[in-house]
Amino acid sequence: MATTLAAPTLHRNVAEFLSKPRKMLVNGKWVDSVSGKTFETYNPATGEVLATVAEGDRADIEQAVKAARRAFESGKWPEMSPSKRGRLLWKLADLLEANLEEFAQLETLDNGKPLTIARVADVPLAIDMFRYMAGWATKVEGNTIPISSGGAKYFAYTLREPVGVVGQIIPWNFPLLMAAWKLAPALAVGCTVILKPAEQTPLTALRLGELAMEAGFPDGVFNVVPGFGETAGAALAAHPDVDKIAFTGSTEVGRLILQAAAGNLKKVSLELGGKSPNIIFPDADLSVAIPGSASGIFFNQGQCCCAGSRLFVHKSIFDEVVDGVAKVAKDFHVGPGFDAATNMGPLVSQEQLDRVCGYLDSGISEGAKAVVGGKKKSGAGYFVEPTVLVDTKPDMKVIKEEIFGPVVAAIPFSDPEEVLPTANNSIYGLAAAVWTRDIGKAHRTAAKLRAGTVWINCYNVFDAALPFGGYKQSGWGREMGHDALELYTETKAVCAQL
Ligand code: NAP
Ligand code: MG
Repeated sequence: MATTLAAPTLHRNVAEFLSKPRKMLVNGKWVDSVSGKTFETYNPATGEVLATVAEGDRADIEQAVKAARRAFESGKWPEMSPSKRGRLLWKLADLLEANLEEFAQLETLDNGKPLTIARVADVPLAIDMFRYMAGWATKVEGNTIPISSGGAKYFAYTLREPVGVVGQIIPWNFPLLMAAWKLAPALAVGCTVILKPAEQTPLTALRLGELAMEAGFPDGVFNVVPGFGETAGAALAAHPDVDKIAFTGSTEVGRLILQAAAGNLKKVSLELGGKSPNIIFPDADLSVAIPGSASGIFFNQGQCCCAGSRLFVHKSIFDEVVDGVAKVAKDFHVGPGFDAATNMGPLVSQEQLDRVCGYLDSGISEGAKAVVGGKKKSGAGYFVEPTVLVDTKPDMKVIKEEIFGPVVAAIPFSDPEEVLPTANNSIYGLAAAVWTRDIGKAHRTAAKLRAGTVWINCYNVFDAALPFGGYKQSGWGREMGHDALELYTETKAVCAQL
């Protein structure tokens, strides 16, 4: 379906891409779904239909898994040298770079985020991820192991081998980047993959599939099956011939993934929700801490699993920080991602807008006060006002649950020793931040925070080389960095009597 949104700068490839129903990528071919069904994606800035996409379900997953199994067991992929695999990933990164503007526009139209952000964050970080992992393809090594058992002499060593056929289920907040985080390490080590993008945002994953074919990935190595979580996603998670499932999304669905994976005990990695504490000590440089904390919650419309949604501020600077963060929120130009002035776009969907507004209503009805924002922005599209809440209580839903929107609760503290247990008092443990000029305090605090990432005097710094993942109910395993290779490899111990 052609979109009625025709921004003057719309890239011609994007217009062309949106003008036809998109097929799915199975075994190197672009095919309709087995059922013939399709679904629509929407432009969150207008609520209008953006594109029509083939709706994969169990039958399509079946075919994709068969293709991925075949590609894993025989043919060009298992015979390909690590160096050649690495070069394929590098080539994919080059193609992505050559088409950066097109990808940024597609991402903005599908997800809503400001085009300026998609251009400098989403697409470049995805390119980096493919390049970083391309380098690892030739460096996945085992060890030689001196062993002491028995009277005989042995030569023992380990091999790191690809885990096999991998199912990957991703969310809608960073559609292309989440695809890159999942695909790059799996392909680098020699797995074959079936990627299930989120129903809200399948477009960049499908376009990436086209580039993968252009780069020369053999048939069946790189499959993309768009569709719904309850059908395609569940079938992938439960499939007896899938060796590993990697998931990013809600903690609730993470539990369903685990249950589905239990059938064949496939390996599981999970990147789930968060309720990250962001702590500002009284000696912090507020000229950095205030904009940093605002960006820590409002980046990507607050739709970040690591969003700094609980802002702990020492009482001596509380008013100054709250006023400063509220001013940033007031100054935001909330509008369509394609508008050059926009620095905050819409939420991804009507469902997400209702969810976030539900949290705002609940917090305010329980006595929290919105210093700024607090409700939906009137008019078309899924816009919500960036919001700073004060006067919250520890047992409010807005303090305990992940809102996944541009809503921060500012909480005063007086005793620096007291703030740590409160900050750690969450079922989640994905990220945290601390702002102080005292280097000793910074690192002591970092050590005590129960979170997979701690930022000191910064927020939302991501790098392909830095592992990312959660403590507690924020997940299992680490993506990015060389830790990610663990998610997609098995260790084989080989022992020979000499
Ligand atoms: P979600 O349901 O967890 O979706 C994430 C992915 O899982 C999507 O691809 C989804 O498919 C798929 N899925 C859903 N149910 C499934 C099932 N039974 N089996 C297999 N796969 C399944 O997240 P959401 O509903 O979009 O968002 C709800 C909340 O999740 C948000 O408000 C936020 O709190 C959290 N969330 C967290 C992250 C994160 O980065 N950690 C990202 C997104 C959302 P479809 O969506 O295509 O149906
Ligand atoms: Mg869902």
